Amino acid sequence: MGWTTKDMREDLKELRKMYHQEKDSDKKEEILKDINTLIGNIVDYELVLDDVTQNAEDGPLELFAAAPMYARYFPTVYKFINLVESLPYDYYLDTEVSYDPLASISKRDLFDILHEFFNSCGTKVAKYYNELEKENDKYLIFDNERLSCSGNTYVVPRLGHRYIWIGTDGNPKNIPITMAHEYGHCIASKMYEHRYSDEKLFHEIESTFFELLCEDYMYNEMNDPFYKKCLEEDVSAYYWSAKTATLYKRTFDYVFNNMSDDDSAKKYFNRYAKKHYGNTMIGDKKIVIDLDSAMNYLFGYLCAVELFEIYKEDKELAIDLLEKIVAKSDNEYESIYGNITPVKSMKKHINRFKGKNYVE
Ligand SMILES: [Zn+2]
Repeated sequence: MGWTTKDMREDLKELRKMYHQEKDSDKKEEILKDINTLIGNIVDYELVLDDVTQNAEDGPLELFAAAPMYARYFPTVYKFINLVESLPYDYYLDTEVSYDPLASISKRDLFDILHEFFNSCGTKVAKYYNELEKENDKYLIFDNERLSCSGNTYVVPRLGHRYIWIGTDGNPKNIPITMAHEYGHCIASKMYEHRYSDEKLFHEIESTFFELLCEDYMYNEMNDPFYKKCLEEDVSAYYWSAKTATLYKRTFDYVFNNMSDDDSAKKYFNRYAKKHYGNTMIGDKKIVIDLDSAMNYLFGYLCAVELFEIYKEDKELAIDLLEKIVAKSDNEYESIYGNITPVKSMKKHINRFKGKNYVE
């Protein structure tokens, strides 16, 4: 039952065999990409298993390749920041919902909820989810060492394998939402089989979209006000990601305009990032804030809100748009704006849970 990295290593062997048997050099190249992704995933999973502490020196360095691309999205990020800063001052003061940290959810109830939820998302999504559900015995593991708001999915597209882990330590009420997120990735990988080759910026759109839908479902269909609070808190959580991202961008711009060569700029930037965003705690574990993720998740959220608001009016249209987005890569960023406009429906979204005329 379940999977271990041994299964992923078997996949690796399989891919290597495919690589050696392939004669076409373009196809060989593609397989090689998959091999590298899989190796990265195995390392990622084992690293997380041992200890979540990462080497701060490795983190920010990786960002450099992506930074110029991220810069294009900053007008959108600023738009979101301005909007949140214009909200009534009491936005965060509302503390009506508390949850019982000892509340638990049985596996059976959990799977029933998810089944109902995904089957309410239209025929296409239902079909994909029901296929994934049949593979749970092999590809889904629960990890009680990790917090319930964490999870991950490793997809091996060429072999049609999807390895999912879900953290269960922490607030059980987060678990359905984390699962909606991870299955969101899996559904996207079924919509478009080349998903998970290399790009990252668009990847959190699909998962955050299903996360929001699931929060809304839990609030409206299961009558649990905890999830209304989640929808509300998403706005403030991503506001902080946005602030982090702008700090990062400003630092990045400054460093690269003022340093004589790339190497010293990188060194300076790493030191700066470590000092200012440095180590933080999740539970009793030390982690390094990953600025790259801050941007990916933020952009994912801003796009997901748009899809969510479209979905509330026209389910099929939203799923069609998602499918289009899923098939795009990060460097086709104009395509996002051709289909949806991030931040356009944010006020409408906030009014959805704060009341009709909360923001105008
Ligand atoms: Zn994700």
